[in-house]
Amino acid sequence: MSKKEKVLDKKSKKAIEDIAMNGSINNSRKLNFDTSWQYAPAPESTDHFKLKKKYDLFINGKFVKPTDGKYYKTINPATTETLAEIAYGTDKDVDKAVKAARKAYNEVWSKLPRKEIAKYIYRIARLLQERSREFAVVETLNGGKPIRESRDIDIPLAAAHFFYNAGWADKLHYAFPGKSPQPLGVAGQVIPWNFPLLMAAWKIAPALATGNTVVIKPAETTPLTALLLAEVIQEAGLPDGVVNIVTGFGDTGAAIVNHPDVNKVAFTGSTKVGKIIQKALAGTEKKYTLELGGKAANIIFEDAPIDQAIEGVINGIFFNQGHVCCAGSRLLVQESVFKTVIKKLQDRIENLIVGDPMDKNTDIGAINSKMQLDKIKEYYEIGKSEGASSFQSSCNLPKKGFFFRPTLFWDVAQSHRVVQEEIFGPVLTIQTFRTVQEAIDKANNTAYGLSGGVWTDKGSKIFNVVNKIRAGVLWANTYNKFDPTSPFGGYKESGLGREGGLHGLTPYLKM
Ligand code: NAP
Ligand code: MG
Repeated sequence: MSKKEKVLDKKSKKAIEDIAMNGSINNSRKLNFDTSWQYAPAPESTDHFKLKKKYDLFINGKFVKPTDGKYYKTINPATTETLAEIAYGTDKDVDKAVKAARKAYNEVWSKLPRKEIAKYIYRIARLLQERSREFAVVETLNGGKPIRESRDIDIPLAAAHFFYNAGWADKLHYAFPGKSPQPLGVAGQVIPWNFPLLMAAWKIAPALATGNTVVIKPAETTPLTALLLAEVIQEAGLPDGVVNIVTGFGDTGAAIVNHPDVNKVAFTGSTKVGKIIQKALAGTEKKYTLELGGKAANIIFEDAPIDQAIEGVINGIFFNQGHVCCAGSRLLVQESVFKTVIKKLQDRIENLIVGDPMDKNTDIGAINSKMQLDKIKEYYEIGKSEGASSFQSSCNLPKKGFFFRPTLFWDVAQSHRVVQEEIFGPVLTIQTFRTVQEAIDKANNTAYGLSGGVWTDKGSKIFNVVNKIRAGVLWANTYNKFDPTSPFGGYKESGLGREGGLHGLTPYLKM
């Protein structure tokens, strides 16, 4: 046995002891040998479907060429390879789509018995489930999120939103007793790139269930699953024009928002664009909801079950590469457990698998676009220049595509930009607090108010704290749990109105 092998052997013995004692290897011991178990590659296959080379606009039940004949390329952010060409819809196309939606509303959709509307929505849900494998793979190829997440979260939840809303379609009088709920007409909807199909479901399902027709624009980087959804809508036999999908850029979205014949605007995206939309809609009769950014506090009290809390913090910030409006991007830790928490977080981050989103072992996939990667890199530099201490996983990143290491910042102040601004990437800031009141004050010291998390052993503390945090969604001893029956939305610069649950139906109704 060589000297080097002897050293390795000693370390592997130690590792085995760790496993026997603790059930896991103590990762702080730098294991520079290969006795730790490696996952064999487990790539999801792509041979069960074929993408088209070119996708047109979906208007009045048919795929039609864009008026100006312009297309742009949509890529796979994990490889930068082109997946397909996508139509760039202009205001003329949006006008066609709104006219089709109006005609469908006046002539068909508003006249159908409510239970027939429900059947169509159920059919969409069932077809989504049938094609779920294809949807999951395309979502991952186009968006960069790990296949495990699109397979287990995005697609099943999207189907669940159609199922849930289908259930309400013929029961609106029970949902709002004593009232006479009526649809508004045409809903214009604009969605972002972080949960492409899920956001489409959040928008389309309640609009249809309440009897409205739809014109929707997916984000420029992630149009593919919305276009597959157009195929599902055709297959479900929805009357022409009830759902129209117009792909394009920001100006396409603006054309929907500003179209005079749209009755209701539903927007999810950045606070910056949300403000532009709010200004554009001021003084009009259009109803609107805005689901904007966030900078949520995830609070660990000293009495919390620390190991569970660590998992919740990891899920809170690294789920979907941190491209989550309700991400727990600010960790607040009670001072007495700070050292334990930061050590455990570093150990856990070292174990996260960053890489090919199509591999079923991957925890953190590709950043959605070069633009977003540049933004995250810029914030990383800002954090360091503001004087924060930092830690990054030492993992290797793929040579091609857009990737960023899971990152921690601590020794940060409330005034630091990395603490105040939404980074929308796998970057967590960590601050300490001593008293319950200090935790609440720090949690609320933000322009946003979308979500938050509390980790403690005491139920009374949960009720006390969550009632004092100004955020739309608060999780206790868990994080990032979503359900179609539960309303979602924010306060302050996180927007207004709620989506999901009964609350999510009201913005689409007059009563
Ligand atoms: P964004 O610029 O607000 O875009 C969201 C959607 O609005 C996209 O479909 C976008 O089209 C469209 N849009 C852009 N300008 C518009 C305008 N003037 N009028 C109407 N629609 C317009 O957000 P993003 O570019 O996707 O991401 C930027 C930042 O937004 C992120 O870094 C994050 O801070 C935030 N964000 C928040 C959420 C959330 O769920 N709250 C989700 C995603 C992003 P294009 O895609 O063609 O530009
Ligand atoms: Mg954009």
